Parts: sequence; structure tokens; C-alpha cells
Amino acid sequence: MTFPNPLPRSLSPSRLADFQSCPRRFQHASIDRIPQPATYATVKGNFVHSILEHLFSLPALERTIEAARGFIPLAREEKLTEQAKVDIDFSPDLEAKLLSETEAILVKYFAMEDPRIVTSEGVELNIDVTVDDVPLRGILDRLDREEDGSLTIVDYKTGGLPNRDFDAQTFANTELYAALTAAALEETPVRIRLYYVAHGQVIERTVSDVVIAARRKAAVGAWKRINDYYEQGEFPATPSRSSCRFCAYKEICKKNGVPVPA
Ligand code: SF4
Repeated sequence: MTFPNPLPRSLSPSRLADFQSCPRRFQHASIDRIPQPATYATVKGNFVHSILEHLFSLPALERTIEAARGFIPLAREEKLTEQAKVDIDFSPDLEAKLLSETEAILVKYFAMEDPRIVTSEGVELNIDVTVDDVPLRGILDRLDREEDGSLTIVDYKTGGLPNRDFDAQTFANTELYAALTAAALEETPVRIRLYYVAHGQVIERTVSDVVIAARRKAAVGAWKRINDYYEQGEFPATPSRSSCRFCAYKEICKKNGVPVPA
């Protein structure tokens, strides 16, 4: 089979995660370009990210919780699109839930850090860079400059707390961000800080050159396999309970005879 659409121009951490979890998922999302319907969790995540992004567009001393609350109408305009509302079956009850959970998150976030004393090199920072002939791109929530001059990658998480037995998986995307940042800025971030804003908890990890090299190698290997599968005209499906559980393409796979676990 020949694909009607070209390969994506670059590989992002989320596309890489799709590919690593199941190459067929990557095909449906990034080559067939079959839209993945929004869920309440993705809409809430986008909503909170939007508020925090706008908060950091203000001069440092103006970044208060009142200012953050003031960005809720803008986040609603930007993230509660008509399509998203249809996807999540938006209702007055769901709106009340979204607003009350957002308020709880803002209170927890302001207890975790004082954004007035944060120095950021960039917010929603786009990084496009070619590493070992692989075009990579990513959008960092924040890249902070610490008092000691070092760089920290900051990522907001609006979902549940991770199982600490699987830190390698938890930090996989952000470690690739670190590799991108190191290549683009020629300065390696020293740490990654994940803000689990719904729980008021921070999880941090130091970035090492070994990790950067491993993430680069994984991205290079995946890009080669993506190109090979594209040439062959088929990305294999690798169904498993964990990969298929939240996959938007379950029905398509079932119709195509893929043994998707119940
Ligand atoms: S349903 Fe399972 S097998 Fe099908 S694309 Fe998704 S993860 Fe892959």
C-alpha cells in the first residue's frame, strides 16, 4: 500500500510515544491524520495550560492567583471550541465541574510555587532542531533559569500521580525535550521538574549526558523504523491492554481484524 499523505516533517515526543506504544497508532494519528476526539481530561489539561501560559506572559510581580483567574474567559475562548464541546458532550454540569476543578488546581499550584519569583527563558517554547539527521520538534511548557544559572525544564501535569516504579516512562517525553533543548541551545538543562498541579506535588529528576544520549538514540532508531514502515506501506499493530486501553482507534482496529484486548 502507498500512503496518500507524506510522513510528518518532524518527530515530536508525543508522536514518538505513539509510535513506541503501537506503530499503527502512529500511522492513524500522524499519516492517516484521523482526528482523536477530545476527552474531558485533555480539555481540562489544555484549559489549565492556557491559563498558566497567559499568567507567565505578565510581568513577574503581576503573576497572582487573581490574575490567573482573570484568564479563565480567555482559556474558555481558546480551548472550549465547538468541536471540543461536541466531543465531550459539554453541559452546564460539566462546565461547573471544569471550573471548580480549575479553581482547585490554581489554589494548589500557587501553594507549590510563587510564579512572581520565577525567571523563564521561554513559555510554550517551540523548539525545532535536527539531531543526527532526524528532524525533531517539541513545545516546552517552560524553560526556567535557576538562581545558580542552570536550566530546568518544567512540565505541568493535570492528571493523576505516576507510579514511581516507572520513572523512566514518566520522564521519557521530557527527557527528549531535554535532548532537543541541549541540541538547540547548546546548553544541557540540569533538571526536569514535573508539577502535578491537581495534587500539589512536584517530581524532579536530574538530567545526565547518558540520558540525553539514550533519548537521542531512541528517537533516531524510531525515525528510521518509521521511514522503513512508510516505504513498506504498513505500520504493524501491536495491541496490548496498556496500549489499546485509551486508544482512539480501537473501533478501526477491530474492524480491520486486529485482536484489540477487551
Ligand atoms: S487500538 Fe491498539 S492496536 Fe489499534 S492502534 Fe490503538 S494501540 Fe494500536
